[in-house]
Amino acid sequence: MIEEEKYEIVVKTKEPFRVGGTKDPLSGAENPVTVVGGRVVIPGPSLKGALRAEVERYLVEMYYDKANEGWPAEKRPLQPCIPAPSLSPDEKELVKKQRYRGDACHYPCKQKCGNEDHMICPACYLLGAQGLNGFLRVPFLYSEVSAGELYSTRIDRAKGVVAESANRRFQVVPDSSVFKGVLTIVKNDFVRGLEFGKPRVLRERTAGDRWLELGEWNTKQIIDKLVLERLKNIKLLGGFKSKGFGGVEITVTRITVPQG
Ligand SMILES: [Zn+2]
Ligand SMILES: [Zn+2]
Repeated sequence: MIEEEKYEIVVKTKEPFRVGGTKDPLSGAENPVTVVGGRVVIPGPSLKGALRAEVERYLVEMYYDKANEGWPAEKRPLQPCIPAPSLSPDEKELVKKQRYRGDACHYPCKQKCGNEDHMICPACYLLGAQGLNGFLRVPFLYSEVSAGELYSTRIDRAKGVVAESANRRFQVVPDSSVFKGVLTIVKNDFVRGLEFGKPRVLRERTAGDRWLELGEWNTKQIIDKLVLERLKNIKLLGGFKSKGFGGVEITVTRITVPQG
């Protein structure tokens, strides 16, 4: 038997949203909105990426020692990783300043990890690391907007705004469009021996969920602070932020299932 908690996520766009494939031809950034089966959707990975960034930011703001410009040794298990196989120069700088771990979380540790086993960070505990599932299932968010209701526009390169006319046309979702989906948190999975908020029993080589052994975080705090508050805190989706695209307002509501 699996015990789950479900939450309805409603995303309302505050600005026009670009629709597109995975890459934006101008900025090279990911588009947060796409069309699936004639309906406009925010793909799960877009929302997951935004949630992850919020969780990371929260942990850094909470635990990073600004005065000494380092991560306190006793709080090391709470330091988020950068979940990428190779780091950009900017990301390397963040690791150098100890805002982030240098290694992306993974399971199990291999020979190349050396003598020290790696831990799983809180963000990867919730959202998954390489080789290990997380406890959250982040949904695709569907809108009532059909592909036919999109309007075409173009981006003014110089001003970074939506221009009135001319070539380079892109489809745009009007602002105040509403997208909905259901987030699932796995609370208890008896078969796989998983209990949310507890360190997992992992048989292969790893330092595991050590952040949960510090005794600072219980299940309710994790759901409230690291999941629900972080979701509601997302103000932007996608990579078009600096150009006035992607502003959102998110509400999250617990779905209670009648006992029967
Ligand atoms: Zn991680
Ligand atoms: Zn390792």
